[in-house]
Amino acid sequence: MKKSELLRALQQEIRRHDFNYFVDQPPSVAQGGKGVVVPGCPACMKRINTMNQFLDHLASDAIPALLDSDVLKLLPAEMEVRYSRANHLLSTLKRDVSDSHNLPRR
Ligand SMILES: [Zn+2]
Repeated sequence: MKKSELLRALQQEIRRHDFNYFVDQPPSVAQGGKGVVVPGCPACMKRINTMNQFLDHLASDAIPALLDSDVLKLLPAEMEVRYSRANHLLSTLKRDVSDSHNLPRR
């Protein structure tokens, strides 16, 4: 797999996610249901309130899903080493993020 193909596959996956609005528990009130429009990622139906939480969603949900996806099985072996390093960095980052969430609010 060429680098440019890999990049395209990764970008395509990241772009599925969006900080927008969706109907939580459809059908919507307008369609006679109980679902209300909430901010979040429509692709994952995940409620998100801030840009920080959206970035967290990409780092914690989208990127790990990518690392587990079939895309990486097409990589040459030497790149797998880099991705296992990336995965390690990501888990460190996730730990840092969850630690920072535990800090008292200023
Ligand atoms: Zn998403």
